[in-house]
Amino acid sequence: MSGRSKASENNSELSTLDLGTAEFMKWLISKDTNSGDTLVAVKDYFDDKYVILFDKSISKDVIVGYRDGMPWCITCNTDDCGHVGFAICLKQDHDRDDHVVY
Ligand SMILES: [Zn+2]
Repeated sequence: MSGRSKASENNSELSTLDLGTAEFMKWLISKDTNSGDTLVAVKDYFDDKYVILFDKSISKDVIVGYRDGMPWCITCNTDDCGHVGFAICLKQDHDRDDHVVY
């Protein structure tokens, strides 16, 4: 994990893939408890097309699109921000059959 992002001007707290993964775990738990205590809300999910997230740390909608199955954050214009990490986990959660979700 390099964790470097060239999109620092967005000032999102989700600047690395790892932070996105951690936030996804929180989101999974809050989904069950309805706590709403997460940095990210999922607004829409279209399998293998795109994910629309709401990032509360920048108060903006964030769109992660899939190119040939690889996620790409259109908002940060990178493939290694936290939104991408979040989207990867979200996809794994949907494709659960063959994946181990940790
Ligand atoms: Zn992003």
